Amino acid sequence: MKSKPYLSKSKYLNGLQCPKLLWYEYNQKADIPKPGAAVQFAFAEGHRVGALAQQLFPNGLHIPRDWQPEKQAQQSLEAAKQRLPLFEAGFVFGQTYALADILVPVGEDEWDLIEVKSSTSVKEAHYHDAAFQRYVYQGAGLKIRRCYLLHINKEYVRRGSIDPEKFFVKQDITTESTVLAQMIENEAAAMLKVAAAADFPAINIGPQCSSPHDCPLIGLCWDFLPAKDNIFTLNSAGQKGFDLLNRGISKVTEVPDDYSLKYKQVIQVTAHRSGQPYVDREALLEFLGQFTYPLYYLDFETIAPALPLFEGVRPYQFVPFQFSLSRVDKVGAKPKHFSFLAPDQDDPRPAVLEQLQKLLGNKGSIIAYSAGFEKRCLKGSADAYPKYQAWVKETNDRFVDLLEPFQKFYYYHPDQAGRASLKNVLPALTGQSYEGLEIADGGVASAEFYRVTYGQDVANADREAVRSALEKYCDQDTRGMIDVVEALRQAVKD
Ligand code: SF4
Repeated sequence: MKSKPYLSKSKYLNGLQCPKLLWYEYNQKADIPKPGAAVQFAFAEGHRVGALAQQLFPNGLHIPRDWQPEKQAQQSLEAAKQRLPLFEAGFVFGQTYALADILVPVGEDEWDLIEVKSSTSVKEAHYHDAAFQRYVYQGAGLKIRRCYLLHINKEYVRRGSIDPEKFFVKQDITTESTVLAQMIENEAAAMLKVAAAADFPAINIGPQCSSPHDCPLIGLCWDFLPAKDNIFTLNSAGQKGFDLLNRGISKVTEVPDDYSLKYKQVIQVTAHRSGQPYVDREALLEFLGQFTYPLYYLDFETIAPALPLFEGVRPYQFVPFQFSLSRVDKVGAKPKHFSFLAPDQDDPRPAVLEQLQKLLGNKGSIIAYSAGFEKRCLKGSADAYPKYQAWVKETNDRFVDLLEPFQKFYYYHPDQAGRASLKNVLPALTGQSYEGLEIADGGVASAEFYRVTYGQDVANADREAVRSALEKYCDQDTRGMIDVVEALRQAVKD
């Protein structure tokens, strides 16, 4: 006999985002792509944050997880009699089911509900989350007095071991969750109907595909759009993309002449129609004219976990664990390449600062892509190691941001597909790409470094393979920047 389909909290939240996603969750889960390394890292961080929050209730009772909701509910009801804080207590009401992060007994027979989040502020989805739980628990017979959200204190700075009292901020969201709980009965009934339908509901793509989260079915639902000149590659398209699509326009090249566009969008449409890059020669010459030799091309890879690993670090603060640096001494000279990859679990910042201070000297432009990030990493590192502060202050004045000519549209190539990131600019200008690299983006680099450096039971071969892939990826960024600058120089010559 098929088991009763329960509506869990995560399914309810998915259903609020999009009924089609909900249908897939129930009926074709295998077609939902598995989360990548960066998302899995975020999940794991969520668990670590949850475990830290439990330390606030030393006499708390952990309810062992049973994947059958009825059994989890039985265990939880039994445990509730002890009137102790409960972790992961699960309750069932009708066809709804929810597991509470923490339930705290109050007085004779009431409970406070505490949801733990790894965000640094309260978001709208959190109200719905707590509302759903309130609805289920009350339906199951629990008296819920207040609902709280325990989120991360973004001002927290690690000193010694992490202090959960200071690490979290507790926010009362009783009013919001009580108001929203009123809509759950109807919403849940509608969602269970969707779940039981033979086919998925006809839902057009829309802003819901990326709000409040990027939907995992984007690859499937957006697949009908043209691979080239897709209308959603229009710079800052926003609602305009959907408006145009509703008018039957799916390509940038088809935007009607009388359609109101912004400055960058006009450049883009013109370039896509002609197939030729747009070049603002004067602006590019001015940009390239600020370079002073030797040129240093610098790229950092960073980790930014919710739970800071080192002294003086805030939650989600970027800590560089790797750099790639290429030095070009004069026009046409062969680049000299240097790199660093943290060898162990120690704070990598002293070694990064010491080596860069030697390598960067005191003159010459430092070119980085989205240079504000590299500057922030250096400043954040020097704040913890003040002997480098004066050097970092001078050094940060030498940065030139290679993102600028693309972000400001001094140059636009139709193959950039509306984007200014190095991942789009490099192939468009040079034909090189990140394809074939085992690590091909910063989020994966960060998650993989964390896994093989701070994780348990990592085989040596796995660790070495990841470190080698990290070296290749970081090198690609700096070598790529050199080639992009060369391509811009050619563009102003032509
Ligand atoms: S991609 Fe968009 S339309 Fe498709 S399921 Fe997700 S939210 Fe719904």
